[in-house]
Order: sequence, then C-alpha cells, then structure tokens
Amino acid sequence: IGRQHREFDYFKLALQWPGTFCQRTRHCCSSNACCRGSNAPTEFTIHGLWPDYNDGTWPACCTKSNFDEKEISTLRSALEKYWPSLSCGSPSTCHGTKGLFWAHEWEKHGTCSFPVVQDEYSYFLTTLNVYFKYNVTKVLSEAGYVPSNTEKYPLGGIITAIQNAFHASPELACSKGSVQELYLCFYKDFKPRDCAVGSNIGLEMINSKSSCPKYVSLPAYVS
Ligand code: 5GP
Ligand code: 5GP
Repeated sequence: IGRQHREFDYFKLALQWPGTFCQRTRHCCSSNACCRGSNAPTEFTIHGLWPDYNDGTWPACCTKSNFDEKEISTLRSALEKYWPSLSCGSPSTCHGTKGLFWAHEWEKHGTCSFPVVQDEYSYFLTTLNVYFKYNVTKVLSEAGYVPSNTEKYPLGGIITAIQNAFHASPELACSKGSVQELYLCFYKDFKPRDCAVGSNIGLEMINSKSSCPKYVSLPAYVS
C-alpha cells in the first residue's frame, strides 16, 4: 500500500481531550462517546496515528484499502474505550462514502503508513500500543495538571512535563483557551522525537505556532 505516494518521514500521534471536545458535541447524538454521561472518557483519547513529512505536509488517502470492521473485531472493545468518536455524524472516507471515525482514520492516514504499518489490523494495534506506552494523561496528572473547570495551567509547564517524561516536544491545539488536541511525534521505529522540525526550536516559537494561549484549561467533562 502507499506506493504511489512518497514514503512519509515520521509519525504524529494525535490525541483529543474529551472535556473540551464534548463541550460542543455532548448533546448531539446518542452514539457519540460524549453522551455516555458518567462513562464519558476522562483521559486523552486517540484521534489518529498520522504519517507526516518533515516539510509540514502529509500524504493522505494513499490506496483504495477500504476499512473492514471484521479485521479489527478483536480490538473492538479497546478501540471503543480509547479511540471513541466524540463527534456527531459520520465522516466521509477517502472515496466519498460515509463511515466510522475508524474508517476515516485508516483510509486517510493509515493507508499512508507503509512500509512501517502494512495492514488495517496492524494500524489499529500499533496505534493502541503507542498510546498505552506514552500515557500523556498520567504524565500530566503527576505534574499536577488535572482536569478542572476553574484552574488554568501554563502551556509551557504542560510542554515541559511531556518533554521531561518522553524527551521530545509535543504540540498542542486549543479551542477557546482549552486544550483540544495534543500531538506526540515518533520516528519510524517509534522512538519519540520533537514534533516541530528542528530540535532547537524554543518554547516561544512553539507557543507562537500553536492555537493555545499562555494559560490553558483542561476542562472536566460536565454532563
Ligand atoms: P485541522 O485543520 O482540524 O487541524 O485538521 C483537519 C484534518 O487535517 C485532521 O483531522 C487531519 O486529518 C489533517 N491534519 C491536520 N494536521 C495534520 C498533520 O500535522 N499531519 C497529518 N498527517 N494530518 C493532519
Ligand atoms: P480529520 O480531522 O481526522 O481529517 O477528520 C476527522 C473526521 O472524523 C471529521 O470528519 C469528523 O467529523 C469525524 N470524527 C468522528 N469522530 C471524531 C472525533 O472523535 N474527533 C474528531 N476530530 N473527528 C471525528
């Protein structure tokens, strides 16, 4: 798979913060994880594992390898818990049809991760394994950054906590001052690397590139 696109350079693990995402989608439908009341997720969950190029662009929709739910049946309960859909409605897949969030991520990004990941089952298993190994929620809570609807935390402190734990710089994206996504980056052998290209990039530059203000919140889920 992926042969007609240039091989990617590195992986970006995109995580999403349900407390922020669910502020806008919790009432939208019964199928989204935000609507699970007290069972709504309280940790960063997976958005996707994205192959990227060092120049800031990325390949997408690399082959016609249609998502097949049967291939991931043994991973299903883990995916429902750690890779739930927080949105309303179905995303379109690469070929115009509507499908599950998982189908969207596999077809758009997963099919471009050749030769490191070669099939749908491996894409989901690999992503879960990386997610379990680099537990961002745990690192942040040990540094005192716990879900709160009143506290604001310094963005630099959050970045430093991740750098200290994983020896690589993450990226963050915010919505209205709340953390919405957090990205961890990896070489093709899944050793952590900085997300920003060039390792000397200073905190100030990371801050200025991000949609996050200097102080951010990590809202708790409210039903
Ligand atoms: P947004 O504009 O919301 O940041 O991103 C929209 C979509 O573009 C994402 O869901 C993802 O599919 C793709 N995208 C955004 N940034 C990146 C990136 O850095 N790498 C890759 N591979 N895809 C991205
Ligand atoms: P990306 O931003 O990865 O290209 O696209 C994500 C697509 O999947 C969007 O069409 C979005 O509506 C849908 N989607 C379904 N569930 C989720 C979710 O939990 N988070 C995000 N970011 N998108 C989701």
